[in-house]
Amino acid sequence: MASELCNRCGSCVGLSGGKIRFSNREGRYLPEITGDQGDEQYDRIWHACSGKEFNFPEYRSRIFGDAPGFHTYTGPYRSLSIGHAINSGLRAAGASGGILSALLIYLLEKKRIDGAVVTRMSPAQPWLTEPFIATTREEILEAAQSKYILTSVNEILDQISGFKGSLAYVGLPGQVQSIRKLQRVNDPSVKNIQYIFGPFYGNTLHFSSVRSFLRSHGEKDHTAIRKLYFRHGEWPGNMRVELKNGRVIELKKFHANYLIPFHIVRNSLFCTDFTNEFTDISGGDAWAPVYEERGMGFSLVVGRSEKGEKLLKDMVQEGWLQLSPVSEKECIEMHSHGYDFKKRGAFIRIRFRKLWFRQVPDYGYKLKNFSLMRILMEVIISTLFLLLGTRLARWTVEQFPPGFVGRFFERSRDSWKRSTHHIKREELH
Ligand SMILES: Cc1cc2nc3c(=O)[nH]c(=O)nc-3n(C[C@H](O)[C@H](O)[C@H](O)COP(=O)(O)OP(=O)(O)OC[C@H]3O[C@@H](n4cnc5c(N)ncnc54)[C@H](O)[C@@H]3O)c2cc1C
Repeated sequence: MASELCNRCGSCVGLSGGKIRFSNREGRYLPEITGDQGDEQYDRIWHACSGKEFNFPEYRSRIFGDAPGFHTYTGPYRSLSIGHAINSGLRAAGASGGILSALLIYLLEKKRIDGAVVTRMSPAQPWLTEPFIATTREEILEAAQSKYILTSVNEILDQISGFKGSLAYVGLPGQVQSIRKLQRVNDPSVKNIQYIFGPFYGNTLHFSSVRSFLRSHGEKDHTAIRKLYFRHGEWPGNMRVELKNGRVIELKKFHANYLIPFHIVRNSLFCTDFTNEFTDISGGDAWAPVYEERGMGFSLVVGRSEKGEKLLKDMVQEGWLQLSPVSEKECIEMHSHGYDFKKRGAFIRIRFRKLWFRQVPDYGYKLKNFSLMRILMEVIISTLFLLLGTRLARWTVEQFPPGFVGRFFERSRDSWKRSTHHIKREELH
C-alpha cells in the first residue's frame, strides 16, 4: 500500500506479535516488517487496515442502522449538543469541554468498565505519544487533551485483548475504523471493547513540527523536552514546551496552527471522516464566538449509538455533564471549514491523486460535482501543501519568530476564509 495512505492506526503492529513495528517515530513513522507472518496472520492484518479501504455506507447501516439523524457530513447521530463536564477540574483538564475524559471516568467509577484505552505523552520520551490502558481517574486525566502529532492507539491490541475486564476505547477516525473492521469479523483482539469514543479530526502533524517549533526558539535538542502540551491552559489553550533546563516556551493554539501546512501528515489529506463517525460518542471544539468569548471550554458532542446516547442521558441526569441541544444546521455551520476540508477537499484531492495513477482509498461512497471554483481552490491548497512541506520552506519559516509567523498565519487564514466563504458554503446543507 502507498505510504501516504497509511494512517498509522497501529493495528498491523498490534496484531503482528512483534513482527511489525514502527520505525523512526521521530521521522516518517511507518510500519516495518521484521519477521514472516504466515498467510492467515497476513490476511487478518490486511483486513484490519483502514488506510486502504473502509466502507462508510455499509458500516453506517451495520452499526447505527436505526439512528434517527444523518447527514453525510456528520454521519449518523441520535443527538447533537454543546456542553462540558460539570466538574470544573475535569473541564479544565480536557482539550475543550472535558467530555471525553468525563465519559471514561464516569464509566470507570460506576464500574461499567474496568479500564480505558487512551493516549498520553510518553513518560520515558515526553516528546512522543504513547497509548496505554488507564485504570484510575488519575491515569485518565494524565491522558486528557489533544495530541496533534502522530499516535498509534491500536499498536497495543495485544494488551487490549489480554486485559482482564471490559474497556472503553478512545481513538482517531482511522483507528476507530480499524477497530470496527475487527469487531465485524469477531476478532478476539477487540472482544473487551465495550464503548468507542473519539475526538473530531482535522489533521495530524509529523514530529518534525515539534523539532521545528523548538528550532524557531533557538533550541536544537528535542530530547531536552521535559513536558509537551498541545492545549495547555484555558480553552482553546496553548502549545507549551517545558525543557529540562527550566525554560518554558508557549504559543497560542491558534498561532501554533502555522505548523500545519509545513508538517501535515499526508494521510490527513485523504481522510474523509471529520466527526469520528463510527464512535458511540464523539466530541469536537465548539468553535463559535459566543462560546470562544466565554473561555473555560465547550465541546460539540455527537451521541450516535443507543448505548452512547443512554450514557449521555445518565450523565446529564446524575449531574456529570451540562449539554444543550443544537440543530444540525448550527452544528454544520460551526465546523463548515472542517467539513469543507474533509468532505469536499479530500474527495477532490483523491481525484487528483487518481489522475496521477496513484493508489486511492476506497470509502464505499464519493462526493462529487463540486463547482469549478471549489476545484480551483483545491489546486491552490494542494500546491501550498506541496511547497510548504519542502525542506527549504520549513527552514525559511524557522528563521522568523514563531509569534510573528503565528499571527501572520492566523490573519492570512482568516482573510482566506472570508474570501472563500461563498465557495465553501455552496450547498453546505
Ligand atoms: C489530532 C486531532 C485533531 C483534531 N482536530 C479537530 C478539529 O479540526 N476540529 C475540532 O473541533 N476538534 C478537533 N479535535 C478534537 C478536539 O481537539 C478535542 O479533542 C475534542 O474537542 C474533545 O475534547 P475533550 O475535552 O472532550 O477531550 P479530553 O477530555 O481532553 O480527552 C481527549 C481524549 O482523546 C484522546 N486523544 C487525544 N489525542 C489523541 C490522539 N492524537 N490520538 C488518539 N487519542 C487521542 C486522549 O487520550 C483523551 O482520552 C482534534 C483532536 C485531535 C487529537
